[in-house]
Amino acid sequence: MDDVSWKSIPEDRRSSAEERLLASLGKTRAFLFAVGENVDNRHGADILTRWSSAGHHIGNHTYSHIPLAGKTTPEEFETGIMRAEGVLDKYSGFRRWFRFPALKEGQTREVRDHMRSFLALFDYRNGAVTIDASDWYYNQRLLARMKLDDAFDSAHFREPYLNHIWDRAQYYDQLSREVLGRSVAHTLLVHYNLLNSLFLGDVLSMFRAKGWGYIGADEAFDDPVFKRLPDTVPAGESLIWALAKETGKFDGKLRYPGEDSVYEKPVLDKLGL
Ligand SMILES: [Zn+2]
Repeated sequence: MDDVSWKSIPEDRRSSAEERLLASLGKTRAFLFAVGENVDNRHGADILTRWSSAGHHIGNHTYSHIPLAGKTTPEEFETGIMRAEGVLDKYSGFRRWFRFPALKEGQTREVRDHMRSFLALFDYRNGAVTIDASDWYYNQRLLARMKLDDAFDSAHFREPYLNHIWDRAQYYDQLSREVLGRSVAHTLLVHYNLLNSLFLGDVLSMFRAKGWGYIGADEAFDDPVFKRLPDTVPAGESLIWALAKETGKFDGKLRYPGEDSVYEKPVLDKLGL
C-alpha cells in the first residue's frame, strides 16, 4: 500500500476511514510504502507507529513522490530517498525496501542502472509490484463525486472497483504464466485512501472467494521473481509487464503505460460515476 496520503481523506471521515483501512487487512501483513513528506508530521507518525505495532512493514517511497522521469536527476532522486529514510527509519516496521513513484525506474539505461547500483549500495531492495492497477484514479473520481453531491452513495463504486482489481489480477497472472511458465507470489499495489478504507476488505474477500490465498509481504518478496532485473527502457511498470516486454514477444499485447487513468476514464464515464 502506497503513499500514506492521509490528507486526501475528507476530514470528517478520516478517523473512521483510517481505522477501517488498518482493520481490513486482518491478519495479512502488508508493506506500507510511505512518502516522507506525508508522514513527516504528528498524524503521519501516529499512522506509522500503529502500522508498525500491527506487524506491517514500512518501506521508502521517496520524500516528495516526484517520479524518476522528466527533469528529475538521479542525484535529486537519491537525495529524496535518503531524506525519506531519515523520517522513516525510527519506526520498528521500517525495512530497506524501496518503491519507485508511479513505478517509473528510469527513462534510459544509464539512469536505470545508476539507480540499481545506488539501491544495492544502500542495501535497498525494490518493492516491485506484480499486479498494478489504477485504484488511485477510482479514488479520485469517488472524491470528485462526493464533492459534487453530498448525498452520493459511495457504494456505487464498490462493484466497478472490485471488477477493475479482479480484471488486472487476471491479466497479470495470465501474463506471468505466459512469460515465466508459472504464477508468482503476487504483490498488489493499492493506495492509502478513502476508496480502500471502504472496499479493501471486500477486495480481499473477493480474492479469497475466487480461490486466492494470502501470504505476508515478506514471504511474497521471497519469490525469486523479485530478484529479476528486466532489461527494458523506459524501466519500470509491473515487474511482470517488464519481464514480458524484455522478451520482445509481447509487443503487440503490452500497452504503455501498463496502467493509467486513460484506460479507466471511459469505464467510469459510461457508468456515470
Ligand atoms: Zn506512490
